[in-house]
Amino acid sequence: MIQFSQVSKVYPGRHQALQKVDFHIKKGEMVFLTGHSGAGKSTLLRLATAMERASAGQIEFAGQNITRLAPRKIPLLRRKIGIVFQDYKLLADRSVFDNVALPLVIEGYAFRDIKPRVLAALDKVGLRDKYQCLPAILSGGEQQRVGIARAVVNKPPLLIADEPTGNLDPLLSEEIFKLFSEFNHSGVTVLIASHDLALIKQMDYRTLTLHEGRLVDSQEHTV
Ligand code: ADP
Ligand code: ADP
Repeated sequence: MIQFSQVSKVYPGRHQALQKVDFHIKKGEMVFLTGHSGAGKSTLLRLATAMERASAGQIEFAGQNITRLAPRKIPLLRRKIGIVFQDYKLLADRSVFDNVALPLVIEGYAFRDIKPRVLAALDKVGLRDKYQCLPAILSGGEQQRVGIARAVVNKPPLLIADEPTGNLDPLLSEEIFKLFSEFNHSGVTVLIASHDLALIKQMDYRTLTLHEGRLVDSQEHTV
């Protein structure tokens, strides 16, 4: 599903954020990405979603070389990747329904097709009855579940999350991780950056560890 081959990233100012990173995530896998703050996790995810360009090496997504993807082809790639953010990135003045509908609206779906899909996505994250609410009245855990519903609403084959539980307490974090594993069980490939080591250990999935821009170990776990 996603392959990094000798990928390096040097930011302007010569800061080397990633050095010769190699890994492969198979279709249907769920993988954690961990490492200290500044280790390069966000950079790796931004390269995987073509939000940032590699300085060297090659990145493949679903068999396609996306290393130097033409800007006009980036939206098509993004549609195949659901992205979940630490700070949820919900539109504060729009309802839960409208937030989740956004990717479908952007893709030009008709409302009659949007409605059942949005309600189904909200159902999967346990928030169907909150569709009319504004995000602000929801708890942090609920807001993140809205973020997840928005990420999965157009059924992308890959789900990427950058510190999705960074603002949540341990109990809510565990619920969010379980939600990701449910999507994984229904066939979605999942890559989650997190520094919540205790929870990652408890979940028992393959973990990629970055240390100062290098992948230091990649223990294999069987699910
Ligand atoms: P992590 O997500 O593991 O905290 P990042 O990928 O955000 O790590 O950052 C890796 C390194 O690259 C850090 O030293 C950070 O300061 C640097 N960095 C990240 N983004 C930029 C940027 N846009 N410009 C310059 N340096 C950056
Ligand atoms: P219909 O649109 O077929 O007339 P209703 O409006 O009665 O059906 O609602 C059917 C379901 O759709 C309800 O269970 C409700 O959760 C949801 N729903 C109703 N109105 C909206 C709306 N404005 N936006 C999103 N979902 C809605």
